[in-house]
Amino acid sequence: MPSDQFHTIVIGGGIAGLAAAHRLSTRLERGRVRLLEASDYLGGHVRTTREAGYQLDWGPNGFLDREPKMLEWIRELGLEGELVQADHAAAHRFLLLKGRLVELVGPPKFLVAPLLSVAGRLRLLLEPLIRAKRDDAPESVFHFAARRIGREAAETLVSAMVLGIFGGDAKQLSLQHCFPRMAAMEREHGGLFRAMLAARGGSRSRATAARAGGPLGPGGTLTSLRGGIGRLAERVAEQLGEVAMTGMAVTRIEKESGGFVVRCGRAGARPSPSDPGDQVFRAKHVVVAVPSYVAAKLIQGFASDAATRLASITYASLAVVCVAFRRERVAHDLRGFGYLIPPKERRETLGCLWTTSIFPGAGPEGGVLLRVMLGGAPHPEIVEKSDEELLAIVKRDVFDVVGAEGTPEVLRIFRHPRAIPQYGLDHGAVLQAAEEAERAHPGLYFTGSAFRGVAMIDCVADAFRVAERIFAQ
Ligand SMILES: Cc1cc2nc3c(=O)[nH]c(=O)nc-3n(C[C@H](O)[C@H](O)[C@H](O)COP(=O)(O)OP(=O)(O)OC[C@H]3O[C@@H](n4cnc5c(N)ncnc54)[C@H](O)[C@@H]3O)c2cc1C
Repeated sequence: MPSDQFHTIVIGGGIAGLAAAHRLSTRLERGRVRLLEASDYLGGHVRTTREAGYQLDWGPNGFLDREPKMLEWIRELGLEGELVQADHAAAHRFLLLKGRLVELVGPPKFLVAPLLSVAGRLRLLLEPLIRAKRDDAPESVFHFAARRIGREAAETLVSAMVLGIFGGDAKQLSLQHCFPRMAAMEREHGGLFRAMLAARGGSRSRATAARAGGPLGPGGTLTSLRGGIGRLAERVAEQLGEVAMTGMAVTRIEKESGGFVVRCGRAGARPSPSDPGDQVFRAKHVVVAVPSYVAAKLIQGFASDAATRLASITYASLAVVCVAFRRERVAHDLRGFGYLIPPKERRETLGCLWTTSIFPGAGPEGGVLLRVMLGGAPHPEIVEKSDEELLAIVKRDVFDVVGAEGTPEVLRIFRHPRAIPQYGLDHGAVLQAAEEAERAHPGLYFTGSAFRGVAMIDCVADAFRVAERIFAQ
């Protein structure tokens, strides 16, 4: 059985694994780092394909520009000149309420907008008077929002945002772990409005305040790359070269003196006496950057408590439908970011992004690209539906809403089973179990969306944190 010895092996070639492997391989002696990826593609959910002049993002369509580590990495990769920021038109965002698109507006327009009932609007205005929570008991995003801005705003505004970001149910998700900045706004300033005022005050600009985020969404400007966000993964893959091996599904991690043994099955390999079909690598450090339900299986043999905790994280499944029309085929002017659909509307569609309005370069002249997100935690069955079933939903929840008619120029469906981890109220215990396993087994590290944020910027920042810990050894 062939066996190779490395300084560090990174398992999983999603954005977290790519960031960790890239940082390590550019700082360590060449040939000391290996990335093992099960599929034939490097990037995980971060992927763009191009068709008829349109950029089709399979998963994320960009990142928020508020994380310096991400921007530093983009510069290091030589991609700074390819950055594109969301168009100003994208500032207009909508909710689909009772079949109608209603614009999300802040004060003072909010007072007359039909987003909430009059009572709901008045209740939201009372937010500065609500006393801050003083204890450390875990709280759901929904409970926090209902307590601070009222139940109606929690159901309409916040639940839609949570569904849009996490594909998740606000009643099940932990505020502290999903929106740590919002928890800090209450802890440090006593409330959301006060925190926003504080951010606007002093020497800080309005733009800085916008970066802080608020009840209508996280802060920062959506940013992508010319050619689509998949360019990021493509560039990292080019620079990693032979550091990264695809088609290598890790089946087990074992401990041995001075490090770890990583066992892989090669996709399509048939075991025979001359070729046992699997491959063995040895390393002092192992970075586990796969979904937590995979990580749990890999460490089961020596860290069963952590494995049990990791296996307990549930994931939301999503389907993304990319559909393009000639401009004249769509009645709505599509000036804006797109719309979210609050869960109380009881639809399988989470929302629709007007991609060519956000990033005009994402389609050819005279064409419009829509990206529809479906499923999420309330609808795990979405990834089992046929193309025809998904299209029927898209027709009702999107085509009928924006007045799209005729045959689309492009139509692609991307399914993401078990894609976005759901940080429940016990997520603190999950993190603690992972950290205990890292302490008990020096050289073992966990990173990726299962831990400290699902956004690309959080995955990258966490992967760099792991790389720094390895350098510090
Ligand atoms: C539809 C969708 C839209 C999103 N939109 C946004 C957005 O707009 N902005 C944003 O910031 N974030 C967005 N996200 C979230 C973000 O894309 C993800 O959280 C992030 O990309 C996860 O990266 P990761 O490296 O942790 O995991 P993954 O991308 O899941 O990568 C894990 C990798 O591990 C590999 N693997 C699995 N098992 C094994 C094994 N046994 N051996 C070796 N390799 C293995 C997988 O093949 C995969 O490549 C979105 C996610 C989805 C699904």
